Amino acid sequence: MQAEEYNRRGKEMVDYITKYLGSIRERRVIPDVKPGYMRQLLPEAAPTEPEDWENIFNDIEKVIMPGASSPACTELEMNVMDWLCKALELPSFFLHYHPDSRGGGILQSTVSESTLVALLAARKDKILQLRAELDQDVDDSVINSRLVAYASDQAHSSVEKAGLISLVKIRFLPTDDELSLRGDTLKQAIQEDRARGLVPFLLCSTLGTTGVCAFDKLSELGPVCEEEGLWLHVDAAYAGSAYFCPELRWSMKGIEFAHSFVFNPSKWMMVHFDCTAFWVKDKYKLQQTFSVDPVYLRHENSQAATDFMHWQIPLSRRFRALKLWFVLRSFGLKNLQAHIRHVSGFFKNRYQY
Ligand SMILES: *Cc1c(COP(=O)(O)O)cnc(C)c1O
Repeated sequence: MQAEEYNRRGKEMVDYITKYLGSIRERRVIPDVKPGYMRQLLPEAAPTEPEDWENIFNDIEKVIMPGASSPACTELEMNVMDWLCKALELPSFFLHYHPDSRGGGILQSTVSESTLVALLAARKDKILQLRAELDQDVDDSVINSRLVAYASDQAHSSVEKAGLISLVKIRFLPTDDELSLRGDTLKQAIQEDRARGLVPFLLCSTLGTTGVCAFDKLSELGPVCEEEGLWLHVDAAYAGSAYFCPELRWSMKGIEFAHSFVFNPSKWMMVHFDCTAFWVKDKYKLQQTFSVDPVYLRHENSQAATDFMHWQIPLSRRFRALKLWFVLRSFGLKNLQAHIRHVSGFFKNRYQY
């Protein structure tokens, strides 16, 4: 786009906002739509080819405005997170709209917050499991003091921070010559910790470490987590965008064992900051961690509609899905792939083509 065109588009947006504010009294306060209304209005997947801005802009009035900010904000997020899940070829159990799926994706503020959310969900799940097994009534804080989580010594500092906040022990395990965490290392640590009376419950693995873009060996770690009953969280904060390209998906082998996966479209996907894509395999495990039910938040669609306040720490939420929707459509999957191939060329020696 040329500068003149930017100016024109910018003005168009400001005019739209002015018109919206000027005519706000004529619009409905409560939307006249049923849960799931948007699904029929959107395609099943992100477009391969780029779309005209004209088209995208016109859809704001057609698709978003009838649902006002709610439920449009939630529904666009569900649809667009499914688009993104398919575009990266993540497992179908992460999809909202899939007959066999219990999972779904949500946009969080940051990877740091998502990793904390994953830790809290894994912890809640393990505490409930242990409560059911134990005869006596033990306080949750006593169980918490016995929990232990793992990450490699290459993991991002946000993993350490999540442990700090939750008062959960995290063991940082040594990596191999490629700086990858391996299955045997994890297995050995789990055995040592069980012998010390601790309860292993979570592995925070990394695909694309911040230091050198190393990849933990998910294909070995996944089966260990499954055997040992650990939640497998995958932090692909910046490298996640690479999975638009089939030839870069080799490091995802073993992803079918993941309970949660997170990456930052704000790092490599040209989406503005404050847009972190987080998927869980079992949304009920998030909901049992974060659900509260005060009377002032109940509404007639409480049961039928997805309510992201039960998937996160805050109650209110920004309309983050809009920018993801705009970027996916205005570039199209083809150009996003081309962009990744262009930037990953700089790191080519890290990738095994
Ligand atoms: C950037 C990065 C993070 C932190 O991301 P925030 O969204 O800023 O919290 C975590 N893990 C890895 C591997 C990163 O590269």
